[in-house]
Amino acid sequence: MAQALYLDHNATTPLRPVAQRAIAEALAATGNPSSVHGFGRAQRRLVEDARETVAALAGASAESVVFTSGGTEANTLALLGAGCRRVLVSAVEHDSVLAAADGAVRIPVDGDGVVEVAALEALLAKAKPPVLVSVMLANNETGVIQPVAAVAETAHRFGALVHCDAVQGAGKLAFAMDDLGVDMLSLSAHKMGGPQGTGALIVRSGTEILPVVRGGGQERGLRAGTEAVALIAGFGAAAAEAKDSGPTWPEIETLRDRIEAHVVKTAPGARIFGRGAPRLANTSCLAMPGVANEVQVMAFDLAGIAVSAGAACSSGTVGPSHVLGAMGASESDARSAIRVSLGWTTRADDADRFAAAWTSLYERLAARARERTRAA
Ligand code: PMP
Repeated sequence: MAQALYLDHNATTPLRPVAQRAIAEALAATGNPSSVHGFGRAQRRLVEDARETVAALAGASAESVVFTSGGTEANTLALLGAGCRRVLVSAVEHDSVLAAADGAVRIPVDGDGVVEVAALEALLAKAKPPVLVSVMLANNETGVIQPVAAVAETAHRFGALVHCDAVQGAGKLAFAMDDLGVDMLSLSAHKMGGPQGTGALIVRSGTEILPVVRGGGQERGLRAGTEAVALIAGFGAAAAEAKDSGPTWPEIETLRDRIEAHVVKTAPGARIFGRGAPRLANTSCLAMPGVANEVQVMAFDLAGIAVSAGAACSSGTVGPSHVLGAMGASESDARSAIRVSLGWTTRADDADRFAAAWTSLYERLAARARERTRAA
């Protein structure tokens, strides 16, 4: 049987060898980075070096980086730490933002999943300060890129604070925090070839937030607890390589487009979500008409190909994706959508293998679905 094919990079990326080496080296050493002796200072150096490379990836200053346990914690720190009673979030945010901003007002998106800046402006005009606005850089399910600079400019005109969940965009898009104009930005190491369990919130200097995890002075008092030095070292190494790997994304985009062209040719009823908007080069959210996404994911798995039904963290739960729902997708389209996400390990023949598997599943499963409809 052919080797298993991993096309679920938005759930997590394979660890880059440079990150694996950095983690192994750091794990072999002893020392608490807060200790003043030589052992501690050596660990501190690893954390501070990583802070520099992570900051460089986001076009931010090293002092503004607060290491966390990942994207979820970074989002939670931004939303809870800002202490704003009024919160506006896009309707397509990751669950970690929606859960931290319980009761937040949702900013609508258009049919391609792009935030409607005019609607944000109308909501801001009605909201009593202090207000926090949170809009992601790129969506995890569709790859759709949001007009974050326009969101920040609009929100700042009303005196609001702005947070951006850049977990999926970072390492796939070149951007600088200053150009986006946001006050806080979340990152996660394992979406860019780093390890799971570490991430960062970048907090622009002058932005006042309170810690959520308390009890130590680490990370400028914004995140208590001994730093996960080895994971942070792996994050730093992955961020440095991800920053330099920009030229591979146009190739990945060609492969993604080849898959989509094949799917649309094979099944004229197939739908590709967000296709009319700027998207990440690696992501495709595809609906195979009439076939439930869990059935597709299992069938691809049997064929040795890993894809997912929507967001990895919410797959397994009942109900169609809130992202596709907010884009106005019908329930049947949303329930038949899978996410294919390519990445730094994807090769040209992987795209062809996926396309061939899609056709063979479509011919088998869609025919079966049609028979069931006829019999019903
Ligand atoms: N935000 C987005 C857009 C994500 O895709 C994810 C990961 N699924 C997260 C936040 C959470 O990141 P982590 O897994 O590091 O907690």
